[in-house]
Amino acid sequence: MINNRMTFENLCLRNEPLANHSSYQIGGEANFFAMPETAEELITLLQGCRTHGLDYFFCGMGSNLLFPDNPRKDTLYISLKRLVYWDITPDKWFISSGTPMSMLSIAGLMYNIPGYEFTYLLPGGLGAGIYMNAKYNHRQISDIIKTVYYVDLEDPSLSVQSIDVSQCKYGYKQSIFQMNPWLILGADMLAVPEQMDPQQANRLLNRWKDKEGMSSLASFYSYMAEEAKALQSRGIHLPAPMTQIEEYRNGKRHFEYPSCGSVFKNNYDYGVPVGALVDRLELKGKAYGGAMISPFHGNMIINTDHATAEHIKYLMNVIMEGVDKAFGFVPEPEVVVVE
Ligand SMILES: Cc1cc2nc3c(=O)[nH]c(=O)nc-3n(C[C@H](O)[C@H](O)[C@H](O)COP(=O)(O)OP(=O)(O)OC[C@H]3O[C@@H](n4cnc5c(N)ncnc54)[C@H](O)[C@@H]3O)c2cc1C
Repeated sequence: MINNRMTFENLCLRNEPLANHSSYQIGGEANFFAMPETAEELITLLQGCRTHGLDYFFCGMGSNLLFPDNPRKDTLYISLKRLVYWDITPDKWFISSGTPMSMLSIAGLMYNIPGYEFTYLLPGGLGAGIYMNAKYNHRQISDIIKTVYYVDLEDPSLSVQSIDVSQCKYGYKQSIFQMNPWLILGADMLAVPEQMDPQQANRLLNRWKDKEGMSSLASFYSYMAEEAKALQSRGIHLPAPMTQIEEYRNGKRHFEYPSCGSVFKNNYDYGVPVGALVDRLELKGKAYGGAMISPFHGNMIINTDHATAEHIKYLMNVIMEGVDKAFGFVPEPEVVVVE
């Protein structure tokens, strides 16, 4: 059967607001935008970019990004949030990049795999989690994956390559993927469920895909909380680490306003979290345009009322200058500012 989606033109949306694909709900209209559902569609898009002389930019669910108010006309923005599939064999569990990290905590409960609790309510897809080494407290994505599959975008053949997690140069919010033009397709997990009903797994993934991924932080939260509640109705109770995560994130109002989570990486050499330094500078609640330094968490800048990328960047500069002047270092942005 011919797949009608499989031409570059069919896969591309035109004049698509990037704000619809960012947890900040910020970003102007992209001339070209695509959400491939398979690795083949992705390769078609990459080849099409070469043919049409377009640049490309990859994202997952857009929860750690600040898209530009005026996107580049000659760039194809590719979101991998619909690249959601698992490959399950008795000794292997491959999870694709678009799978929400938080779904791992649900799957961990369903299939009795401990250690995935930290991903509960962590926004974003596994691909970006691998790229950023997403973490919660002392647990990070590099703890739970075994082999990463990627495409080297400079390789003319665009063939799929793999790398063992031990070679990925993982550190605090660091990885080899930030140093190379590599597109992550997904990873084999370290743990493999003893028993997994593929149909049940597909139902889990299809429910998410039917919701078209994450349209807002609020809908992401209610979706994952519903999945957890459904497990409880089947007698699978949420372990304490997951209920604590929910309390923590709700306490910091993570899902109430559009944001990208923490804007800056913590400086472990300095030893005090950026949020606490912003608090000491009494910058919480400072507003500019439609943006505000969160009154609930000093390391978050929230979109309170139609903020633009420029509003967010202005407040980022306020924090960087304030911290530099008072504490002697410039905090490094964690958010990826897309130019
Ligand atoms: C409310 C809130 C709370 C958060 N809490 C946390 C937290 O506790 N811990 C934490 O670590 N993060 C946290 N974050 C940030 C975010 O969840 C993570 O950084 C996550 O990994 C981003 O996933 P994403 O799919 O949205 O990536 P995006 O924002 O879409 O992309 C982020 C970067 O990854 C790159 N990228 C995406 N997919 C791929 C791929 N397949 N291959 C190569 N590069 C890729 C993009 O080019 C971009 O540079 C939070 C965010 C929000 C909004």
